[in-house]
Amino acid sequence: MTILLPGDAMVALVGIAGSGKSTFAQAHFAPTEILSSDEFRGQSASEDAFALLHAALRLRLRRGRLTVVDATNVEEWGRRQLLDIAGQERRAAVAIVLDLPVEVCLERLGGRGARPVPPHAVRRQHRELHGSLPTLGAEGFRTVYVIESAAEADAARIERAPRGSAGHNAMSRRNRARRDDARSSNRHRNA
Ligand code: GDP
Ligand code: MG
Repeated sequence: MTILLPGDAMVALVGIAGSGKSTFAQAHFAPTEILSSDEFRGQSASEDAFALLHAALRLRLRRGRLTVVDATNVEEWGRRQLLDIAGQERRAAVAIVLDLPVEVCLERLGGRGARPVPPHAVRRQHRELHGSLPTLGAEGFRTVYVIESAAEADAARIERAPRGSAGHNAMSRRNRARRDDARSSNRHRNA
């Protein structure tokens, strides 16, 4: 899959714990482009962590710097905050969903020491994610890419369009189909 991103986009990773968001972000983006909720939690009281993340996101987008939000983003209200910031700063929002099988994620998490996430919480995230998938486009994401396996995550390529260009129009037919699979069609916005 080729993931085409406007060069000044707000990119929301969406996926349950263990789905590989942080691994994916580190493989494809520069460290300065990634805002990780876990890192903000590690350096501040947890109630401040998202306020700091949102402030950093806003300032980066204002400068036209592509920014990746590495958080679960499985809840609509959390995504709404990101979309509001992107909208206010007039940047396109793109979602990259890591929709791996919940059993794969649970198995991976079994081997993770720090910050364990209990299995019931992971399953709740999975239900929230699947409740959200049909309407991500309608929420305001210009494009929604859905990755469903580790192999697909490994094979994904990121292509950046010049800042401000209508990069999504150059999207491949295959990615359009995938986006429509996710029922994210949002044609009035895409027009
Ligand atoms: P996050 O909770 O969504 O940020 O997931 P992480 O990126 O921390 O990945 C969770 C665990 O899965 C880590 O132990 C990773 O090393 C592992 N992992 C992530 N991506 C892959 C992958 O593509 N293949 C395999 N085999 N393991 C992966
Ligand atoms: Mg992570």
